[in-house]
Parts: sequence; structure tokens; C-alpha cells
Amino acid sequence: MSVIAAGDIISYIEMCQQEGVSLQRGMNFRLKGSTSVILMSLRRGAPYEDRIEDNGRTLIYEGHDTPRVKGGPDPKRVDQPMYSRPGQLTQNGLFFEAATRSARGEGPPEMVKVYEKIRNGVWAFDGMFELRDAWQQTGDKRSVFKFKLVLLEEASVVETAPEPDLPHNRLIPTSVKLEVWKRDKGKCVLCGSRENLHFDHIIPFSQGGSSLLAKNIQLLCAKHNLQKHDKIL
Ligand SMILES: [Zn+2]
Repeated sequence: MSVIAAGDIISYIEMCQQEGVSLQRGMNFRLKGSTSVILMSLRRGAPYEDRIEDNGRTLIYEGHDTPRVKGGPDPKRVDQPMYSRPGQLTQNGLFFEAATRSARGEGPPEMVKVYEKIRNGVWAFDGMFELRDAWQQTGDKRSVFKFKLVLLEEASVVETAPEPDLPHNRLIPTSVKLEVWKRDKGKCVLCGSRENLHFDHIIPFSQGGSSLLAKNIQLLCAKHNLQKHDKIL
């Protein structure tokens, strides 16, 4: 299986192949080993309020509701659960405990891969994140979990290093992804290929290009994305 990079667009099947399992739920703590996987859907009507902060570097991800049970309460009206049964953590609980452990300095941050649904069967890999913090937020009706995830740079960067000319990346907001996908008709803007597409920054983030504007983002196939990188580097 080839390595994927942040911004790559893949099918549901490819995403499952990448992870080696059939992905069924949004939060997957330490899936098959050490890396956790989160599936995100920010589209209109998406059930959870996830948001992007810090100019596209930080993702605030909302925890998940208790499953809907026939004859049971509306899951949107009850607190998001920490436990499913006494002593058994839910996915919320597993991520929450890991986040608070590392926030207290008791271990390295959990590594989390984030995928985002663009449309049925079409997913974008948003990159590898560190789980830095978690909290429970009480609104007017109930309490929900919030998880703070910080995007890792593509190259392994030492935190104290100055911002160098590494291939930085930033999260592209869903609204921008959807606008670009629609504008470019789900095809590479150079050759029209629908295979191995990638959300490309026309002006790279490291050179001041924005992640937040559709006019700086385009769809490129793997071949044309690679050719462009070779020219820049
Ligand atoms: Zn192309």
C-alpha cells in the first residue's frame, strides 16, 4: 500500500485498505496498533460540531453521542458518555484519558490520523495529528467532549526549530474543499484524470499561500502533483 499524504483524495475502499480494517465508526482509538483514526464529516447537516482553528493547524473535534436505542432518549439530549458500562471506557473515554495523560506530561501525545468525508465514497486524508488536550463542555442542554488535535508538519519537525522551508501544510476547511471539488468537477485541472487526486495549494503555504481560499486550492492528479513539487524543490 502506498503512503498517503495530507490532501490526498481516496475512496472509502482505499481508506480501509490503508488502515487494514473496515472502518465503521468515527472514533477509532489505537486501531490495529499505536495509531488512532478519526473520521470527520463537516458537511452541512453533519451531526457533530467540529471546527478548525489556528489558521488551519488545530482541529477541535467533538466527541460522540451515546448510540440511539429504540424507545430510548434522543442521543442529542443526553450527555456524551465516558463509559459504556461500569469500568468500560467508550471511544470518548479512551481518547479523553489519553489526552489528559499527555496534557499532564505523563506520556507522549497520541498520534491520530484524520480522514474527512467529501461526498459519498470520496474521502480526503487530512494528515497526522497529535492529540494534545480534551475537555468536557457543558452547553444549555448537555455535556459534550472536545478534543484538541494539532496537525504535524509533513516532515518531522523539532518543536523549537524556526519555521523553515519545509513542505508545510495546513488543513483546508471543508467548505473550501467542497467548493474546489465542485469547481474542478472532481478532476485534475491539467489532464482531467479522476484517479489519485490531491488538494494542491497553488501557492504553497510555506510561500504565503492560503489554505482558506478556494482560489489558492486546485485538484491535481498524483503525476501532476509530483511534477509540480519537483519544480518547486
Ligand atoms: Zn493530471
